[in-house]
Amino acid sequence: MSQVNLKAVDIHCHLTFKDYDEDREKVIEDAKKTLRLVITSGTEPEDSKKALSLAEKHQGFIYVTLGLHPIHIPELTDRQIEEYMRFVRLNRDRIVGIGEVGLDYHWIKEPKKISRMREVFIGFIGLAKELDLPLVLHLRQALDEGFKLMVQHDVKKAVFHCFSGKKSLAEKIVEHGYYVSVAPNIFRSKDVKKAVKAIPLEKILTETDSPFLAVEGGRNLPQNVRLVVEKIAETKKVNPLEVEEAVLKNVGRVFGIKV
Ligand SMILES: [Zn+2]
Repeated sequence: MSQVNLKAVDIHCHLTFKDYDEDREKVIEDAKKTLRLVITSGTEPEDSKKALSLAEKHQGFIYVTLGLHPIHIPELTDRQIEEYMRFVRLNRDRIVGIGEVGLDYHWIKEPKKISRMREVFIGFIGLAKELDLPLVLHLRQALDEGFKLMVQHDVKKAVFHCFSGKKSLAEKIVEHGYYVSVAPNIFRSKDVKKAVKAIPLEKILTETDSPFLAVEGGRNLPQNVRLVVEKIAETKKVNPLEVEEAVLKNVGRVFGIKV
């Protein structure tokens, strides 16, 4: 059994989701036994309220980013989105980032919806800059476009959540000072393994995207981030502890959390 050192971090999960309604507190207490901290990501207005109250309850362990997942954009009016952005501004000091936000061409296919999705995303890029917070990016079938937007809008801090791209893009991301967040898809994707091999630990973050992406199917848990850490260590031929220490430092740098 590996030693418990409380250094591992899950920078992207959804502890508010209904998958945890039955046993949320137990899941969190279990996570506290092996992780230093987790960041739960608000995906739409109601979910974001829940994320904030969960963090309030578990201060120093659960941190929050607030965003609008692209799949939720079509269900909200422009006015509701504006109100929600105001809500995010008001809660500036309770959050560590804007996300997840981005583009999703897997679920959003209609031209009208696509152009609105882009507009909303650009709105959130502006919000992150205004509030001086990092962006946590969901870019499904949209990695190149998302990266270009970061550069075009002169974004300083961005995290490519659940990175699934190629080594060449990972290198460009890193050159621009952005971070690549490695999720359990490293187990399935040769591209991700190659990308991880090529980029420095100083630019890598670790996540589970729980309740999604469980390596063996079913519900994922934040503490399974250990599997991701071990895979990164194996891929880069370093010690898992070295990975955890580097990621923890990165979390301090990008999210401004005292670690
Ligand atoms: Zn997510």
